[in-house]
Amino acid sequence: MVNVKKSYPAPKCLAEEKKKKNGDYKCGNVLERLKNDFKNKCYICEYKCPSTINVEHFVPHRGDKELKFDWVNLFWACGHCNNTKSDKYDNILNCTNSEHDLVNWIRYEMKPFPKEKVNITALRDDEIVKNTAQLLDAVYNGTTPLKKMESSNIRKSVLDEIMKFQAILYEYCFEASHPEEKNECLKHLERHLKTSSPFTSFKRWIIRENKELKKEFEQFFD
Ligand SMILES: [Zn+2]
Repeated sequence: MVNVKKSYPAPKCLAEEKKKKNGDYKCGNVLERLKNDFKNKCYICEYKCPSTINVEHFVPHRGDKELKFDWVNLFWACGHCNNTKSDKYDNILNCTNSEHDLVNWIRYEMKPFPKEKVNITALRDDEIVKNTAQLLDAVYNGTTPLKKMESSNIRKSVLDEIMKFQAILYEYCFEASHPEEKNECLKHLERHLKTSSPFTSFKRWIIRENKELKKEFEQFFD
């Protein structure tokens, strides 16, 4: 989970749809706006271009029209995460709230192949941070037998991304000798550490845990 900026003002159609008996909160350009704001990533697991997309109500609306049509409350999630979160986690960190310092409050670690496991650690003793860490743990490691399989697929994608990222880091640190080669690596590393990249949190934590890398690459965290 990384911080994202929601675009404003809210799509006009939401206010119109709210007045109707069976209004649709996926009206007008709502989907396009959410896709852009969330960089087409599930806001929970950070899967890029998910094949199942849910417009999620961050605070479940339970029939409340204000919450149902509130632009602030509409998020972009994959089916797996939306389903895992359901009504069970309603007090979690909000990635669109810049005061919620996601990269510093939750630590991400991928234990690599062959028995890959994701470790998520809450770094603050707050209920909201602990709840979020629990949700992320459930998302990446699974709860039911079916969800465990879905989580395993997500972890494989995380691992693919981390391996690509580390290969470029390796090239930058040990193999690239000419300035042009170093610059080429830097461009890729910058792209990997941006919010729009898949599974950014894992890659940022690889950087954060190494003093030298942190000094050099933390500037790329947007
Ligand atoms: Zn997801």
